[in-house]
Amino acid sequence: MISLLNTNVIIRFLTGDQDIKYKNLYAFFHTIETGKIRVELKRIAFFQVVLVLKSFYKVSKDDIVEPCAVLFNRHPDQICILYSNIFTTHRTFNHQFTRSPFPMTISDIKVFPIWGGGRNYLVIKVETDEGIYGIGESGLTWRELAVLETVNSLKSRLIGQNPTRKEHLWQVMFRSGFFPGAHALSAAVSAIDIALWDIHGKALGVPIYELLGGLCRDKVVCYPHCSGSTVETLVEDAQRKVDAGWKFVRWGLSSEGDLLEPSRTVRLGVQQFEALRETLGDDIELICDVHTRLDPADAITFCRAVEPYRPYFIEDPLRSENQASYHMFRQHVAVPLGVGEHYTSKWEFRELIERDLINYARIDVCLVGGLTEARKIAGWCEAHYINLAPHNPLGPVSAASCLHLDLATPNFGVQEMPGQPGMLPDVFPMQIEWKDGYLLPPDRPGLGVEFDEEAAKKHPYQASQGPMLHREDGAFTNW
Ligand SMILES: [Mg+2]
Repeated sequence: MISLLNTNVIIRFLTGDQDIKYKNLYAFFHTIETGKIRVELKRIAFFQVVLVLKSFYKVSKDDIVEPCAVLFNRHPDQICILYSNIFTTHRTFNHQFTRSPFPMTISDIKVFPIWGGGRNYLVIKVETDEGIYGIGESGLTWRELAVLETVNSLKSRLIGQNPTRKEHLWQVMFRSGFFPGAHALSAAVSAIDIALWDIHGKALGVPIYELLGGLCRDKVVCYPHCSGSTVETLVEDAQRKVDAGWKFVRWGLSSEGDLLEPSRTVRLGVQQFEALRETLGDDIELICDVHTRLDPADAITFCRAVEPYRPYFIEDPLRSENQASYHMFRQHVAVPLGVGEHYTSKWEFRELIERDLINYARIDVCLVGGLTEARKIAGWCEAHYINLAPHNPLGPVSAASCLHLDLATPNFGVQEMPGQPGMLPDVFPMQIEWKDGYLLPPDRPGLGVEFDEEAAKKHPYQASQGPMLHREDGAFTNW
């Protein structure tokens, strides 16, 4: 990085006063902090900065950076942001860094809603002026078009920027609209962020897990989706999965068509647990996804009843809007809990992590804010002995993103993988590999997933809605 200690600074106040020259920015801040110059607060709130670089980077006098308006804040932490703003504002200046290994810029962002049969997959492609491209995927199923327009709304903030500045661009995408991100925005940010990591890995010629800290494990255990509306059909499907090599089975708490009556589905769920444990033995791990379908009283009954069958975790036993509900819930149940697939940033995980309310964080890389946000949550979880079990009901880009995170994260439990890789092979001719219940580390640069843009256009978007359940009295209930 450029040393600002070696940088002359000219402060040009917007009021039109004469320029004031300082040896560097630190000298300017020191002067204000020590009261050697007195200026009114509103007068210094916005000012212009001119940087004249010395010989550190062999920049000539002609390379004076143009003036830029920056927000002034005396807090020391804000000084870094100030520097960052200066460099961001001057894209052409970035190109003059003789030490910058990646002078490329984002040239375009394309969005592809792809019908995969049953649901759409929203894939984005970030292109650069160097010819390197990255792909990402968004995780807001049934609201894909809202995400598509959100991606388009972010394009003007991103085109011309250096794609390797992933953290900075995350801040710009998440915060530049003033209103904090929620699902549509976070899904768009996630897709773009994943694509930026793909680009960075390709530019360096390494898989993304190398950028995340390198391999923590040789392979990643994962669980498939099993199904069956009765005890017998579920056990049959689970046995097929185990025979194929899977080490886990996972199923969703059953409904009766579009009817879900809590007491009946709880009784059926307990019977399914009993039968699966008896049939599959102790070496196969069991996960049941309640899918936010129960109220707390029914969820407590269910979790206590299945405890003897040693679930690996019970997933989403409660609805997700009120994280504080887990305070009461945790006092009544002892089974491990996996929660978090709805959450759109680290802040929505905060209470569950800091109060040690969950055992597995169900981070959705395509919804939570991409790999940039997911790795922060992973580090936070590590301090609380919470393992990752990333949510992945999506396509090959989502699966690969999860895999890179899992490979480089020490506190990892299991990866969701609805089936073996290979969906939409014409659109994604190169995907991650599965063997005997495990995902294997890719050795290709970036995500390791190839994308055929023309093939994607042959699977156009189809309008669809998710299932809708009701209770016996006709009231809506979560699917
Ligand atoms: Mg789930």
